[in-house]
Amino acid sequence: MFEKILIANRGEIALRVHRACREMGIRTVAVHSTADADAMHVRLADESVCIGPPLARESYLNIPAILTAAAITGADAIHPGIGFMSENMRFAEMVQQHGFTWIGPDPEHIRVMGDKVAAKLKAKELGLPLVPGSAGALASVDDAVTCAADIGYPALIKAAAGGGGKGMKVGRDEPSLREAYQLARSEAKAAFGDDTVYMEKYLEKPRHIEVQLLGDGKTVLHFGERDCSIQRRHQKVVEEAPSPGLNAEERARIGNIAASAATKFGYRSAGTMEFLYQDGEFYFIEMNTRLQIEHTITEMVTGIDLVREQIRVASGLPLPYKQEDITFEGHAIECRINAENPETFVPSPGVIKSYHAPGGLGVRVDSALYDGYRIPPHYDSMIAKLIVHGRTRNECLLRVRRCLEEFVVGGIDTTLALHQRIIAQQDFLNGDYDIHWLEKFLAKSKS
Ligand code: ADP
Repeated sequence: MFEKILIANRGEIALRVHRACREMGIRTVAVHSTADADAMHVRLADESVCIGPPLARESYLNIPAILTAAAITGADAIHPGIGFMSENMRFAEMVQQHGFTWIGPDPEHIRVMGDKVAAKLKAKELGLPLVPGSAGALASVDDAVTCAADIGYPALIKAAAGGGGKGMKVGRDEPSLREAYQLARSEAKAAFGDDTVYMEKYLEKPRHIEVQLLGDGKTVLHFGERDCSIQRRHQKVVEEAPSPGLNAEERARIGNIAASAATKFGYRSAGTMEFLYQDGEFYFIEMNTRLQIEHTITEMVTGIDLVREQIRVASGLPLPYKQEDITFEGHAIECRINAENPETFVPSPGVIKSYHAPGGLGVRVDSALYDGYRIPPHYDSMIAKLIVHGRTRNECLLRVRRCLEEFVVGGIDTTLALHQRIIAQQDFLNGDYDIHWLEKFLAKSKS
């Protein structure tokens, strides 16, 4: 097993990885930008190295600085966390070339799944069900029009390099599709430096269902599904496990489909296959070759520390479980809390004047906040995850409501108030929602 791991990330996710390391008796190295010198992930780590100025591309995305930090501290392995370098094939390769262990999948797997056009071809080969769409990248706007005529409107243009919901535009008829094609391409070019786009049938009322996977290169097990349909601008806001929209047969079916495809792929490490689910059918949309923010709710219902397992398989150990050893208990919900105005969603960095995190049975708060902490304006606005477990979904919902009332983050705007509104909605309480529900709710409450 490793003696020392460098965690190439910041904030709550760096802390999350640190905690798993500590429980495994592994020492940790934090890296940080000058803006994060006072951050909790730096305070708790055994050692820390400043890797550059506040801008992410000069610090958290600075490959030479991170590799140098690993070399001078004598780290054995590098964990990329989530975001930043976690799906950067080049970084994964360089970590390995410099003699460190990469705590993540084979770089080739990152490459294949990172390009959504290549990923869909691979998914087809692995026998996964796909959303009807273009066979590969679209060659021109006329190609898009021909393809849409074939699969039917509405049609969705998506960026091959996509992520975070960027470069995704709907066309409801030919003129709006032509516009969507141009808009998606320019958004993709700006966000990813690559304007390759493809097409999928736009589903009108799907749920987003994803399956947590963990493989050791020989076997891949599934850890059940998460329902991440509560989204704003195609980004997840609330997640729950299990999904209130699936029955036992559907749950088992999608878990097995995902695990057997990932086994055929020879996958090692933690990963997630994402599907849309509508009218009893599942459609693969992408695979994330990393840990996900919402892995926490899976941990709550399975009792398994996924980061620990990810580190173990990276060190070459086989999975210590069989599929039947993974059992599920109760219900878990995660609320992503952002430093943003809860109505306009404008980021609200600044100093935390008062902080109180809820506690009690079944409550976990993953956050790097503390009283007096200054949230820098340079990074993602997610500042905390409220993760709640209950024996039943109803118990879990009542507990989430209680925790939201108790949570205090003073001095800045947060989306706590948005979560309080969501948890008060009958549709949400009934589990009766799809991926468009939150947008519609927000639009309705504005008018
Ligand atoms: P990204 O990598 O940008 O997150 P995804 O392919 O994972 O993109 O899709 C993100 C979200 O966009 C999905 O969870 C879903 O809400 C929506 N979406 C994606 N594909 C479709 C589709 N074919 N029809 C309707 N909504 C879709």
